[in-house]
This record gives sequence, C-alpha cells and structure tokens, in this order.
Amino acid sequence: MKISILGSTGSIGNNTLSVIANNDDYQVIALTAASNVDILYQQCLQYTPNYAVMVDFDAAEQLQRRLQAMGSATTVLSGVEGLETVASLAEVDIVVAAIVGGAGLLPTLASVKAGKRVLLANKESLVMSGELFMQAVKQFHATLLPVDSEHNAVFQCLPENFNLGLSEVGVTNIILTASGGPFRQFSLEQLQQVTPEQACQHPNWKMGRKISVDSATMMNKGLEVIEAHWLFAATQAQIQVVIHPQSIVHSMVAYKDGSVLAQLGRPDMRTPIAYALAWPQRINAGVSDLDISRLSNLSFEAPNLQQFPCLNLAYQALESGGLFPVILNAANEVAVELFLQQKIGFTDIAKWVEFALEQFSFQTMQSISQILEQDKQTRELLYQHITN
Ligand code: NAD
Ligand code: MG
Repeated sequence: MKISILGSTGSIGNNTLSVIANNDDYQVIALTAASNVDILYQQCLQYTPNYAVMVDFDAAEQLQRRLQAMGSATTVLSGVEGLETVASLAEVDIVVAAIVGGAGLLPTLASVKAGKRVLLANKESLVMSGELFMQAVKQFHATLLPVDSEHNAVFQCLPENFNLGLSEVGVTNIILTASGGPFRQFSLEQLQQVTPEQACQHPNWKMGRKISVDSATMMNKGLEVIEAHWLFAATQAQIQVVIHPQSIVHSMVAYKDGSVLAQLGRPDMRTPIAYALAWPQRINAGVSDLDISRLSNLSFEAPNLQQFPCLNLAYQALESGGLFPVILNAANEVAVELFLQQKIGFTDIAKWVEFALEQFSFQTMQSISQILEQDKQTRELLYQHITN
C-alpha cells in the first residue's frame, strides 16, 4: 500500500511512521510539513519518499538544496497546491490527514475528492465542512477511517452496516470518553492562573500543542462531538460525553438491548493508526499488551460544564448549525494560539469563542470558499478585538 502523510513531522505523523516502520506492506510516497526543515529532511533520508512538501516556500528551497546535496531523488514541492498534489496522486492508496487545524481542510478534501482511503486525524476539517465533506466522501467513493482514538473506538464497536442509520442497527448512544485533561480537578480560580506549559502537560497522551490545549479546555471533546455527528450520522442526543481519567476505555457504543460495547487499549495513538491503516485486517502497532489484571480502577463521571464551558459552546454550535462550527473552530484556533503566546489567559479562550459566536448570524453552508471566507473573517475579527 502506498501512502502520503500530510503533517508527517507532527505527533500523529511520527506515530504513523513508527507503525509503518514495523510493517513491510506500506511504502511512503509523500511526506509534508509546514516549515520544520530539519525534521522533514531526516524523514526524507529515512523513508525516501517520491515527494516532500513544505508549505513554506523558503523552507522548501532549503530542503531541496539539502536533499540534492545528499543525492536524494525526492522531489520537493511547496504551498497548499503541493499538499493537494500529494494528497491526490494516482499512485497513492492511503492518505493520512494529520495536519493540525483549519489548514488541513483543502488538502484533506483533495484526498477525499481523489477517492482515497483517508485516515482522518485532522478533525478540524470535518468540523468546519461536515456536510460538504461527507457528501464528497460519498460522491467520490472515498473510504473515511477515523484515527481520533474515540472515533476509532466507536468505529470498532459499531456493526459494519452502521451507514444504514444508528437506530436502524439498534444503537441508542455513542459514549465518547474524555480524560478531563490536566486541570480536571482545578477550581475556576486555579484555572485562571494556568500557564501554556502546564496546559501542554497532558496526563495520559503526548500530543501537539494545539490539541493539548484543546484537551485542557475540553474544546477537544466539543470538536469530537461534532466529528462524531458527521462520521456516524449521530444526532446530538445520541452523543454522550463521559469523563474517564485513566484513558483506557477509548469510547463506547450502547445498544437498545442494553449492551454497551467498549474498546480498551493503552493510551497510544499507534493502536488506532494501525487499525485504520490495515482495516479490516489487524497489524502489529508496536504497542505492548494491556495487562487487564493490573487495571484496578477505571472510573467514569459526568463532565463539569461550568468549569469547562468550551464543551457547551461546541454543542451550541452544532445545534445552531450552518457556519457556526466554522466560527467555533476558527475562534478557538486564534484564542489557543494567543494563549500559547501568553497574550490571553486560559479561561479567556472560552470567552473569546463565545464572543465570536455572538458576532455572526446564521448562514446555511453552501461552498468551501464560503467556509474559508467565514474562517478568515472570524480570525480577523478576533485578532482585531484581542490585540487592540
Ligand atoms: P502537531 O502539531 O504535532 O503536528 C502538526 C503537523 O501539521 C506538523 O507536521 C506540521 O508541520 C503540520 N502543519 C502545521 N501547520 C500547518 C499548516 N499551516 N499547513 C500545513 N501543515 C501544517 O499536531 P498533532 O498532535 O499531530 O495533531 C494533528 C491532528 O491530529 C490535529 O487535527 C489533532 O486534533 C489530531 N489528533 C491528534 C492526536 C494526537 O495524539 N496528537 C490525537 C487525535 C487527533
Ligand atoms: Mg481524541
């Protein structure tokens, strides 16, 4: 199987390469990154892809020079066009969509429109364009497989024919588990003081900085509720969130006969990545066995929505529909970025997202260009208000 990895230098990208390195069936055709020349250069030497893409033009030139000096045959492309090219190459079977944020929308869609097997980590693209994204999956016969651990767990617990409709196949509820992040037990006063470094120290998972902050605010779970809505055609009422601090049960599916199916595993993204790579087969992910006899305490509790308002904001955006999820996502990206730069506090993230949602009125979703325009307007609005 031939693979393009969009966002290969990130946390999901590296985990994917680690699974591939353990399995002979996969050949890397393309690797991409935003601007980190050193890491992409090393990856190119190790995996000898046909193509490497750096979004940044100067970075692409630098990479090209360094690779040529080593006699490498890798062709270097740049820009979003470069990403779209390697996402839709005729020779590629699998595209791993692991770019972070709205920047992943166009390249991920390009892979869908090329009818690829798309391993979706970039939840933001689906949150932004849900309806159009799922239409494109159908129209272009793409195979969409969730990498996000919760959705991968749900996918594993659903019957094969879940596309008939959840109620049709006897499903009553999808139960997404959430670790609660590093601040699960913090008071509102304590939350006001937390630093970017603390927010990026997730107790169970090692991830990129943006999703780490999202986990700490629980916006990540909010985005995942919207993601589940589109992936599994689940109504809002069919999606429940439960706090499970140990991150061993990755999510559950409840059926009308009273059965609840769960997928368990170590908190290691190589498991869902391996499942999506090989589906419907199983391959070695390089993850050690889960010793069930040593799991003495798995606990579950309802989330505290006062403490973590972002989850509610996401539910609201989903319910309001139209372009509100686009606004939610864009505002969150800006607020997280400014929090990481220490320009706003941690509890301001939810406040600014709420502010942004209040600034726009309902519009039906019509096109990708309209989504990108809404995304841009939201970002500009927030930057203007926060930095002035
Ligand atoms: P990361 O920050 O570690 O890596 C992001 C990758 O995207 C890097 O390769 C980077 O070069 C590239 N990138 C960044 N900005 C870009 C831009 N503007 N244009 C093109 N490429 C760009 O992020 P991550 O933790 O690997 O997360 C990637 C995606 O997977 C996110 O959508 C995240 O929500 C999702 N996800 C991650 C995890 C995890 O464990 N890390 C789990 C579930 C879902
Ligand atoms: Mg997740």
